[in-house]
Amino acid sequence: MEFERRSLPERISGLWQLAFNLRWTWHPEAREVFRRLDYPLWRLTSHNSVRMLHLTTKQQLRQAARDPAFVALYDAAIEGLGRALTSKESWWGRTYPGLPNRPIAYFSAEFALHQSLPIYAGGLGVLAGDHCKEASDLGIPLVGVGFMYPQGYFHQKINSNGQQEEVYEHLEWEHAPVEQVFTKDGKPCILSVALGDRTVQVSLWCVRLGRVKIYLLDTSVKENAPADRELSARLYGGDLETRLKQEIILGVGGVRALRALGYQPMVWHLNEGHTAFVTLERIRELLDRGERFDAALEKVRRSTIFTTHTPVAAGHDVFDIDLVESYLAGTWENAGSYRDEFLRLGYYDNGLGPMFNMTALAIRSTSATNAVSQLHGRVTLDMWAQLWPSVPERERLLQTVTNGVHVPTWIAPDMARLFERYLGVNWKDEHDAANFWDGIALIPDEELWAVREALRSYLIAFIRERARQLWTQKQVTAARVVAAGTLLDPAALTIGFARRFTDYKRPELIFYNPERLARILTAFRRPVQIVFAGKAHPLDHPGKHHLQNIFSRAIDPAFGGRIAFVEDYDLHVAHFLVQGCDVWLNTPRKPFEASGTSGMKASINGALHLSTGDGWWAEGHTGSNGWLIDGGVTVDDPAAVDAADAEALYKLLEEEVVPAFYDRDVNKVPRRWLQLMKEAIRTTMPRFSARRMVKQYADWMYAPGFSVDPTL
Ligand SMILES: *Cc1c(COP(=O)(O)O)cnc(C)c1O
Repeated sequence: MEFERRSLPERISGLWQLAFNLRWTWHPEAREVFRRLDYPLWRLTSHNSVRMLHLTTKQQLRQAARDPAFVALYDAAIEGLGRALTSKESWWGRTYPGLPNRPIAYFSAEFALHQSLPIYAGGLGVLAGDHCKEASDLGIPLVGVGFMYPQGYFHQKINSNGQQEEVYEHLEWEHAPVEQVFTKDGKPCILSVALGDRTVQVSLWCVRLGRVKIYLLDTSVKENAPADRELSARLYGGDLETRLKQEIILGVGGVRALRALGYQPMVWHLNEGHTAFVTLERIRELLDRGERFDAALEKVRRSTIFTTHTPVAAGHDVFDIDLVESYLAGTWENAGSYRDEFLRLGYYDNGLGPMFNMTALAIRSTSATNAVSQLHGRVTLDMWAQLWPSVPERERLLQTVTNGVHVPTWIAPDMARLFERYLGVNWKDEHDAANFWDGIALIPDEELWAVREALRSYLIAFIRERARQLWTQKQVTAARVVAAGTLLDPAALTIGFARRFTDYKRPELIFYNPERLARILTAFRRPVQIVFAGKAHPLDHPGKHHLQNIFSRAIDPAFGGRIAFVEDYDLHVAHFLVQGCDVWLNTPRKPFEASGTSGMKASINGALHLSTGDGWWAEGHTGSNGWLIDGGVTVDDPAAVDAADAEALYKLLEEEVVPAFYDRDVNKVPRRWLQLMKEAIRTTMPRFSARRMVKQYADWMYAPGFSVDPTL
């Protein structure tokens, strides 16, 4: 499947290289090249650089190559990319000079890199994508491994009854920023993984993020049986058995892919339990070389770390032991006599008999496990208490590395320009230094407010444009056009709620008392509006039910057209929302949110977080950088907790949020609000950046791994 790349005018022939390295997604000067090439097409393709190069006309390209302004932009972008790829200078190099030139392998079942690659479902993927982008910025020699799902995660359509419909679209390969991997002699790089008594062929794709490469496994290879070709078709698409097969391919096939490409990682980082079969393949490699099982396990342990993300017991992958055994039957080869030892690493009994648990496997076969917020750390220790006794004392440590977001990816361009002006053009270099952000006080209130109003207006324009498309292209009902946000007011206090639709996140908490909410939304001269977005997993029926209820609220005249539901939440929609809302609402039932990251994206943009004290907010809230929803009820009675939290939420809205937003001085500037915004940016930017997070992984887990036996 090698695609012809159309030829470009010689002068700008590097556009292909620019388009295929997603570094442009977080470097405005590179982004500008594509915007300038054809702005309407840029919008039409939802910023798909590769697709654009296929769709621009010859005429346009020839013109661009002759336009001095375009060529200057192009040269600067090419130079920036070239420098990024060849520079010897980096944080990693400075901090850890003289380490062997070997990589850290980062495994994840999903990566959210750009909307043109729908290989993510939500927060886990965003975290993995942000981690890899930051590793590139810091010069950490990281290589990612994941799945290329040709049908990705679904696109969401809402029908006229407010029901979610899932639409799967096959990726147009030649229009996506991925390249197939070939061997040195020009053949597709294919490896094989045994599943039970048959063998599945896996091909490889590569995505570039600056210096970092991510390899994506794909089973849609023509030699495979039709069912196997479909194995990697969709993210979280299949039943439990499909999931197991996918995870064997990811773990076992992923290690083989790295070996086929010549990688010898020093550290192996498993992002969530889906990836834990990596340890099986590495143990097998060592057994093949004549090691004993215990020694092999110990070596694998000392070079592998694990990040767990799920405080909900049901969220951990659990398989029938016999099923695991039968699918692994062909994988063992020479190591077959140790299969019981291996299977025991995954044993876990939650009271219903022993099962094979991927998190248990990961905890037992790695030297460090980390949780993703302080609170999640405490929950995790409790949850896996029965595992720790089987782990040697010195390894019973559970670390915490609180999640963070990739600032250059999530910061609004207008906000970045303000920082450049008042904090210095190199503000991105220092953005994880706490004191640096004291400088936020230098930004005049009026200017910060102007940016906030602009960001809100971009959001409303984006929402209305989508509503217009529904109306003109799909001829949907008028009610759907209203629900899509047509009646939103660009000047009104705008609350955002966007994330996966699932019960514990309580998307409907704010409707607990509909009359009281309607009074808040439709108040004379102090209107408030709420924008919802989010997909429910196809099998999450309660989640879908919440979504449908919200749709019916959106078309209920009692709420004045001030509630909108934006379809098909993805990275693109997320950018508009976290940047354009004034308030970011987050209402998870404690302690089910491991961390949450959308509130961090909002906070660094000065959108104020209004959240229960779960996940990162338990450590992020300072008392003056947003609001804490705390109903004070901790008993194990969800109904009582909901009632108390809803009451606390309404009180905050009525007494603090709305007044702070609408109390304006003679220049119509809300001084109190701006104070809160500045405090939000000052306190969250350094601490909840991916830079702080990835440096912690590097200092606590990656660099120490380089002192482990290099012959592994
Ligand atoms: C950030 C993000 C998420 C995660 O949101 P949470 O509120 O942390 O659950 C999910 N989906 C998309 C598209 C995102 O950008």
